[in-house]
Amino acid sequence: MVEALRNPRLHGYGTTIFAEMSALAAATGAVNLGQGFPDTDGPREVAEIAAAAVLEGPNQYPPLPGQPGIRAAVAEHQERFYGLTWDPDTEVLITAGATEAIAGAMFALCDHGDEVIVFEPSYDSYSATIGMAGAIKKTVLLAAPDHALDMEAFNAAVSERSRVILLNTPHNPTGKVFTRSELEAIAAVAIEHDLVVVADEVYEHMVFEGEHVPIASLPGMRERTISIGSAGKSFSFTGWKVGWLTAPAELRNAVMTAKQYLTFVNAAPLQPAVEVGLRLGDDYFDGMRDDLLRKRDRLSAGLAAAGFDVIPTQGAYFLTVDIRSFAEANGLPSTSIEFCLALPEAFGVVAVPSEVFYATKEAGRHLVRFAFCKKDDVLDEAILRLSSPRQAEQ
Ligand code: PMP
Ligand code: GLN
Repeated sequence: MVEALRNPRLHGYGTTIFAEMSALAAATGAVNLGQGFPDTDGPREVAEIAAAAVLEGPNQYPPLPGQPGIRAAVAEHQERFYGLTWDPDTEVLITAGATEAIAGAMFALCDHGDEVIVFEPSYDSYSATIGMAGAIKKTVLLAAPDHALDMEAFNAAVSERSRVILLNTPHNPTGKVFTRSELEAIAAVAIEHDLVVVADEVYEHMVFEGEHVPIASLPGMRERTISIGSAGKSFSFTGWKVGWLTAPAELRNAVMTAKQYLTFVNAAPLQPAVEVGLRLGDDYFDGMRDDLLRKRDRLSAGLAAAGFDVIPTQGAYFLTVDIRSFAEANGLPSTSIEFCLALPEAFGVVAVPSEVFYATKEAGRHLVRFAFCKKDDVLDEAILRLSSPRQAEQ
């Protein structure tokens, strides 16, 4: 084996589950409710700006922190929705998706052996980038079905080496929206131990119950929070890979230093388009949320009718189910990875095994995630298939 492949910090990550499951859907012709991407593109008026910019420019390297227009629009967006004020010149950074903002933050903030507190289940890039930074992941379990914050476990995860709390609300994969009081408790710990909070808020506009509270808006948190957003999520252009962060200048500059050597800059002609998206009216943001709420309820009812125990979600575009009763009734494995590998063949549907998001594997062993950011007829087809097993038809 090539020696580089032995790098213990990369070892074991493999292909991301999302790419794996989308490839399985393509290979089997299954309805893909696995990887979280919408099957309808975002606003035409935003796409038209991008198309014109590809033809007319800008098509050369934008400034390192991003074009001034999109930086101003990010700052306006944060003020408009959350009353947070950021200086577009010194406190905003445009990134290659939220993914780069997360990676850049880990590389910028963590030294070898530093600890990052992560709530599990957690999005897959967290473990990988913490590992690549040479840092150590300390997990705090959000246990199904209510996924409430366990303060005892949270406090126990803090140590002398703690450096960062990596928070995701609304949360992938559970759809949990952290409550204000949970966020206040997290903020109190961050302040007491002088920790930075990296707040992955890519699903900020998809909250169906409760409210999205950016942790940066809580007292004492502005100066220690990096807040991250994504045009992939907020404008349904996941393939554009445009993201942004807001943070005090010192933190922004630290991430920007890492970004210089990851991508340097990104997506010049897409930046003026996302700028327009960020300034769209409330009707756009409300409409997207209402549409997804309807889809959540449609899929939730369909999955329940098919025999799944559906765990209620308040945000993002995922539903988690406990598969045990469905698996038993249909002769499928009741462990999530085996279940998801068998599902395309048996029912013509792809989902994601939530187990992969857990460090405490047992906690996610019977949980599976379905994405509902799909056309109604696609959701209906998935529901129909899950209600009529292929095996039974043979
Ligand atoms: N964070 C979370 C919680 C996500 O679900 C995703 C999925 N796309 C990302 C970050 C990455 O976002 P982007 O595509 O903008 O890199
Ligand atoms: N965020 C998407 C999900 O959770 C997938 C992103 C990816 O494929 N890396 O499904």
